[in-house]
Amino acid sequence: MTENIIIIGSGPAGLTAATYAARANQSPLVITGRELGGQIATTDQVENYPGFPDGVTGPELVELMQKQAIKFGARIEIDYVTEVNLKTHPFQLKTENGNAYEAKSIIVATGASPRKLNVPGEKEFAGRGVSYCATCDGFFFRNKEIAVVGGGDSALQEGLFLTKFASKVHIIHRRDALRAQPILQDRAHHEPKVNFVWNSIVKEIKGNGKMEQLVVENTQTHAQSELSAQGIFVYAGHTPNTQLFKGQLEMDEEGYLKVDDRLHTSVPGVFAAGEAHDRVFRQAVVSAGYGCMAEMEAEKWLMGSG
Ligand code: NAP
Repeated sequence: MTENIIIIGSGPAGLTAATYAARANQSPLVITGRELGGQIATTDQVENYPGFPDGVTGPELVELMQKQAIKFGARIEIDYVTEVNLKTHPFQLKTENGNAYEAKSIIVATGASPRKLNVPGEKEFAGRGVSYCATCDGFFFRNKEIAVVGGGDSALQEGLFLTKFASKVHIIHRRDALRAQPILQDRAHHEPKVNFVWNSIVKEIKGNGKMEQLVVENTQTHAQSELSAQGIFVYAGHTPNTQLFKGQLEMDEEGYLKVDDRLHTSVPGVFAAGEAHDRVFRQAVVSAGYGCMAEMEAEKWLMGSG
């Protein structure tokens, strides 16, 4: 059977595309990827998604989006696409669970993943101090001293969330000015458990079985010092999850997919939605909007392509 629309990814972009496609009787198939719900599912409180004046947790928001897509007939497969062939039509896909699919059109909503620090100790202490998800792992750091890396919205929002558990949260930032929204900056500056470590980068993560210290270097003086921390949460930006499409879809030097203003990629019938192509906004609501746009274009394309 050839699917009309396969959506790869299950974050706000993928699930919004799924709802639109389902309501258009396309019976879309969503292949979720390894992280069901994408990055928003790892966020504790979402305060700026329209329609939720009291906020909503990331997992709840994703569950509601999924429910909405399924209600109209979307099918959701928990699986991971390992191979695509966009050189033939219908397009071909293979997955980790050993399934093979054919699709007339594809919406790439694979999102982005946290950027790693690539320093000694990061791999060794992964899950034993090093984390990329405060919502998932914050609980394990009750009354512990921890560090957060980054100066953006994620670093501050998740750093503030971590003050619920930790005795101290050191926010290590490579410059002396934050890029986070003023409201988050204000909250962080007023939170007594937060300590900013300015103009600093992490050079090494050290410990004995479990993480115990960080080696931090001042970017101005290059002086190195040790900081005691039992955990480190890395929020140093993202890289798009587009490796699967290398050599088949045009992308920029960082891997963001190239799209036109209607979200068509370089291959007709393949559309992109969300952080796989959006390096600028990266908001759940924007990704949801892109999901809607990509699906509407996919429908038009399907009508034209027969
Ligand atoms: P981001 O805005 O790209 O910030 C990444 C931070 O990490 C920057 O402060 C950057 O420093 C730093 N950084 C980058 N590479 C580094 C490295 N190798 N070592 C150390 N530090 C490094 O990422 P984000 O905070 O995850 O936010 C992503 C997007 O999601 C943004 O558009 C943001 O607005 C959005 N978001 C919104 C909310 C909200 O609305 N509440 C919450 C979370 C995220 P520099 O500043 O020096 O570049």
